[in-house]
Amino acid sequence: MSVYHDEVEIEDFEYDEESETYYYPCPCGDRFEITKEDLANGEDVATCPSCSLVVKVIYNLEDFQHAEEEKVAKSEKTKLEVAS
Ligand SMILES: [Zn+2]
Repeated sequence: MSVYHDEVEIEDFEYDEESETYYYPCPCGDRFEITKEDLANGEDVATCPSCSLVVKVIYNLEDFQHAEEEKVAKSEKTKLEVAS
């Protein structure tokens, strides 16, 4: 069983578009981090690279999984347009 330092809503994380990673300040001075891909895979534990603390991320898994489905739907639409 994991012991979380805290539980944090995904809205409170800072998102970096380049690395597709969410960050949240850690008490040690570094930052907890979790990638968008981790979230889409159902991973909800953000880790700090500088200490052993972890936080549980509160988020809606469906929000991240639907984002992936939209991408697929768009590429299929493009295919149809090319065919007609
Ligand atoms: Zn830390």
